Amino acid sequence: MYEDQTLVCEDCGKEFVFSAGEQEFYAQKGLVNTPKRCPECRKARKHKSRRKMYDAICSKCGAATKVPFKPTEDREILCKECFAQKKQEEAQAQASE
Ligand SMILES: [Zn+2]
Ligand SMILES: [Zn+2]
Repeated sequence: MYEDQTLVCEDCGKEFVFSAGEQEFYAQKGLVNTPKRCPECRKARKHKSRRKMYDAICSKCGAATKVPFKPTEDREILCKECFAQKKQEEAQAQASE
């Protein structure tokens, strides 16, 4: 049977409980390592690894989209569809050369 374990977070140094339920869950998933970080730090890291996306408007079709850079007026913003279309057009232009 599993027992609650108190672990120390590698990131913030705080103690956190690795509960019996979690240990069972880990074991079921085949994970042998104990978590190195407290739930807050784990959450924070997950968040950090996600790229910040900015709301933008597609310069071509006017659709709302998200871009991984801060949208500026002199930079062309393309939504996913227009971007795919542009790529296709570029490929076709190259093929016809
Ligand atoms: Zn922590
Ligand atoms: Zn568009």
